[in-house]
Amino acid sequence: MCLPGARVYNVRMLAEILSVGTELLLGTTLNTNARYLAERLAEISVDVHRHVTVGDNPARLRAAFEEASRRADLIITTGGLGPTEDDVTMASFAAFAGLGLRRDPRTIGHITRQLARRGKQLTPLIERQSLVPVGARIFQNPVGTAPAVLARVRRRERTVHALLLPGPPREMRPLYRIARAHLVRLTPRSRRTVFVVRRIRITGPTEAEVASHVPDLLKLPPPLTVGIYAKPGEVELRAMCKARTRPAADRALSRIERDVRRRLGPAVYGTGESDLPAVVGELLHRSRMTLATAESCTGGLLSKLLTDVPGSSSYFLGGVVSYHDRIKRRFLGVPAALLKRHGAVSRQVALRMAAEARRRFGSDVAVAITGVAGPAGGSAIKPVGSVHIALADRRGARCELYRFTGNREDVRARAAHKALDLLRLRLLVQR
Ligand code: ATP
Repeated sequence: MCLPGARVYNVRMLAEILSVGTELLLGTTLNTNARYLAERLAEISVDVHRHVTVGDNPARLRAAFEEASRRADLIITTGGLGPTEDDVTMASFAAFAGLGLRRDPRTIGHITRQLARRGKQLTPLIERQSLVPVGARIFQNPVGTAPAVLARVRRRERTVHALLLPGPPREMRPLYRIARAHLVRLTPRSRRTVFVVRRIRITGPTEAEVASHVPDLLKLPPPLTVGIYAKPGEVELRAMCKARTRPAADRALSRIERDVRRRLGPAVYGTGESDLPAVVGELLHRSRMTLATAESCTGGLLSKLLTDVPGSSSYFLGGVVSYHDRIKRRFLGVPAALLKRHGAVSRQVALRMAAEARRRFGSDVAVAITGVAGPAGGSAIKPVGSVHIALADRRGARCELYRFTGNREDVRARAAHKALDLLRLRLLVQR
């Protein structure tokens, strides 16, 4: 059985990801390949110990292969397999490995067919992409012309494997998937262990507050470790376990999860991939309740987050972005006198917005947000970041005042997130 929030990895061999491309060093291209490969390799038993990025420079690339081969069992490169002069990965690898390059007729045939599909002909430059190391395994590129190559190199009494992949992610990913089965077979089963990760997601307390509740867990030594990560509006404890079998790892992680839940209570909102909007959606769905929103300073962000969840139409009826006072009056019936007396950013207005949204949309629950997102518009009594969040249900309406920090974007994101959490806590009591 696969527990929610757990991902299984088999840890078997050490790998280094070598990203090739001057544009990566300059920052003009974000290295998404390294991230993709690191995640995929963890899934198939491979421990990534280092990410290295080098420019399109043959000498430095060759040195990077040399260094990596001292540490890693597997080197995976991306980039530099194109047809132009600055594509130096294949030649640099061959020089490092002491392997000759041969022209591969099957690759020439594949490239010719790929080009024909686009109405193009083989040129001597593109034909360079059919040069592959002698003895290497070749994987043809289903969406482009550069093949991927898996080669074995003997180095200081050790065997090192190298997988060379093209740089464009749309070519790299399918080629990785093709080569994957061959990577899995590189390590004997006897060295196999499992590596299971469970994400424990927390909202409400800050990172420091969470850490102060679990100081002992954060110091646990391998094979069972716990890391802490702060994200906007939430904190994640990532429990990781290496064990001989999956059930053994699951048992250890469940113990950690129970312990964290006991110490942090309902601040733990879930495990795994489900984020706060999904958890709120699940609670609404299960309790068969409907929701409406009335948003001012968040400009519809809360509704956007709610509707990001597939199937949200079963509980989310709709919302009003009542940014201007006229719209608060006209579409939510907030009395002009109330707005005049207390101002749009007030507890009274927030409560009225929530109650009216609930009544007008005919929902079970409604949430309203009004605040000062900044950078302008703050005052001594209502500084930037002041946000009222009101919740109306059959029992009436209540409102909380928050003082969020950060820039306009942060204040809006924190307000929408807090509204979701208030909803969640309300729905937990409901059940
Ligand atoms: P091509 O056959 O297109 O020349 P290549 O294997 O030579 O492919 P590069 O020339 O190094 O690859 O990169 C081609 C493009 O792929 C880059 O301009 C960049 O947009 C993208 N790319 C390369 N490496 C990465 C990476 N690590 N992460 C994300 N994108 C990348």
